[in-house]
Formats: sequence, structure tokens, C-alpha cells
Amino acid sequence: MSVTPSAPSGAWGAPKPQVHSLAIELTAFCNQRCDYCYNAWRDDGGASIGTPDVAVVLARVDRVLDAIEVEHVTLTGGEPLASHALFPVLDRLRARHVRAQMISNGALVTDELAARLARYRLISVLVTLNGPDAALHDAQVGGAHFDATIAGIGRLRAHRVSVEGSIVLTRRNAARVGETLALFRSLGVRKIALSRFSPAGYALAFASELVPSPAEVTDALERAAAFVREERGRGEAITLFSTMPIPPCVVDLARLPEIEFHDCPIGTNRQEFVLGPRGELRHCALHRDAITTGARDVLDAGLSPLDLAALFAPGDPHGYRATLPAFCSGCRHAETCRGGCGAAAQWVAGSRDAPDPFVASSAMSATSATDERVVRRLPLVR
Ligand code: SF4
Ligand code: SF4
Repeated sequence: MSVTPSAPSGAWGAPKPQVHSLAIELTAFCNQRCDYCYNAWRDDGGASIGTPDVAVVLARVDRVLDAIEVEHVTLTGGEPLASHALFPVLDRLRARHVRAQMISNGALVTDELAARLARYRLISVLVTLNGPDAALHDAQVGGAHFDATIAGIGRLRAHRVSVEGSIVLTRRNAARVGETLALFRSLGVRKIALSRFSPAGYALAFASELVPSPAEVTDALERAAAFVREERGRGEAITLFSTMPIPPCVVDLARLPEIEFHDCPIGTNRQEFVLGPRGELRHCALHRDAITTGARDVLDAGLSPLDLAALFAPGDPHGYRATLPAFCSGCRHAETCRGGCGAAAQWVAGSRDAPDPFVASSAMSATSATDERVVRRLPLVR
């Protein structure tokens, strides 16, 4: 691979695009094999992608950071703690005054690693627990990792590394969300993401088993909201936020003020772009297709610094938000919701003309003749 020296887009006089977040997938490898993993390469453990040299990863990071101004970087993978590039990239980010956070399964955290991470003053490390006990958690992550993850959270906190929690809400664990939140609380974790499962990549094979029904998600969110009220009643601060959009045609979000909800951020000033393990840029972690046309590496000589900066230009330069599923035509939430998760729609139905599979599963339970006509056009997810 040729590595072309990079120059800031500002060198041509154009201001650099301001980007909210860039996720860097440091490695395709992971020590777990979660049923809900959105990595397309999880089936072979990342072998088909390979492991990029540290020098190449650093060159890609420099190439992108020369083109944009970024509020923060999210280090992810695969499992970032399994990447040789982790600390070199953290050093580079610190030298460039870019703040970093990390998504990790936590199971590889040793005392030594936690002490080393503490020196970088990360925004946080986001660790996922999918149940309050080993049986439920391990059944979803491909092996006996629960104890190691609990120990990893403890080591990070012991070394004063900020830890945030995450729960992927699936059909299997939705009813036990209150217990899982209580486990996080017992570990001292008080900011937790609730991410309803959205099928993509490897997880597509498990869609029918894992996509929770609207009733299951509603019940889980109500339990979570009750947990927040209880905690706040005891004077304890706790923050719950939903990382995946929950379309308001499926769940009445106004009844759940205790939880922060967000629409799909693509094409807005909250977007988190992704730099993948092959050097490709994607709209988000769940998206299969690269926005660097032909899935090419950001280091390719044919991609000039100005062309690269243009990919991040403000105001939806890719026209992503111009596409609205036909199902959503006329909906009063269409401008903000845009049909839910477009990445999952593409993975499941092959097109963003279809609604998010979670919305489709909701529509499938509809009974009116009008809705049944709509339902027949929707992909079956179960
Ligand atoms: S835009 Fe579509 S998915 Fe979103 S609330 Fe409206 S109908 Fe539902
Ligand atoms: S397409 Fe789906 S996963 Fe990607 S940013 Fe939007 S809601 Fe999130």
C-alpha cells in the first residue's frame, strides 16, 4: 500500500469540517463472538480482514485528523484492548489534543492495563453487560466472559478510569433490564446506554431470535424509567440514554422522560463517522457500505486531502437524509426520525426504502386492512 503524505485541508484555505465524533475500528479481532455483533467479519473472527500494521493505522488516523476538526474519537473494533495499535494511537491522539473514549467488552482488562489506561484520562470506557448473571450474559457473547467483564469494570474503576455501561436490549434479556441496571449500580456505574438490538453484519443471522417486540422494548424502557425514579428518589444521580433510535410510532417516548432518546444522527452535526479496519470510511458502525467510494482506504493516493475533507462536509453532503422509507411518507415525525435505523433496513431488506426492521415488526402486529397492505411490503424479521 502506498502512503501519501497528508496535508491539512486548511492548507488550501478551506476551513476544516467540524465533526462530532470519529470511531476508529482498531482491529477486526475480538475475544468474544456476540450474537448481536454488527461487525460483518465476526463470523471468521476478523481473519478475512487481517490486522493492519500499527504504522498504517497511525497514517490513516493522521490522514483523517489532518482533514477535519473532531470533537472526540471513539476507539473500538473488534476489541480495542486486543489491538497493538491501541497505545500508539492513544499517544498520537494525545499529541494532537484529541479527546478519546473507548468501547470494550472489558474482559481483557488487567490491573497493569487499567493503570496504563488511566494515564490517558479517557472520557470513558463503555462496557456492555447483557444480563445480571453469567448464564444470561454468556449466552449472548459466545463464551464464559461474564466474570472477566465484571472484574475488568472493577479494575478500571479502581484505577479511576471512568466507566459507562451499556445493555443491548434483545428479546432474551429485555425483561431483566432492571436487574442488569442494578448490577451496574452495584459496580459504581451510573451512566448507562440502553441500545435496543438492531440487526446488522454478523447479527443478521440472529435477527429473528434477538429483535425484541415493541411490547418487550416498551416494558424494558418502563422498567428502566422506574429504576431511574427509584434512584433519584434516594438522591442518587443516574443517567440512561438510548443509543439506537426508537421511532415514536412504535413506542410513546413522551411517557419516558427519565431516558434520553436520540434520532439517527447521520447527516446531522451529531454524526459519528467510522474509520474501518481496511481504512474505509463509513456513515456509522452498523453501515456496510463505505462512503469512500469502492471501499477504498483513506490513504489511497487518488483521494486528495480536499476530497477527503469533502466527505465530512457539514449539511449531509451524501444526501443520506433525503431518503425516506415509503412507509413513513406523511408521518409527522419523518423530518427527524427518517424511518429509524437505515443501516438495519439495508442489511435486512437491502434498501433504505424499507423501514427499520424494528418498525416492521411493529407493523406486522397491526390489524387494520390498511396496515396489512403495508405489512405485506415489509421484510419479515421473524
Ligand atoms: S418516520 Fe417512519 S419510523 Fe419514524 S415515526 Fe414516522 S412512521 Fe415511524
Ligand atoms: S443508521 Fe442506525 S446504527 Fe447507524 S447511526 Fe443511524 S440509527 Fe445509528
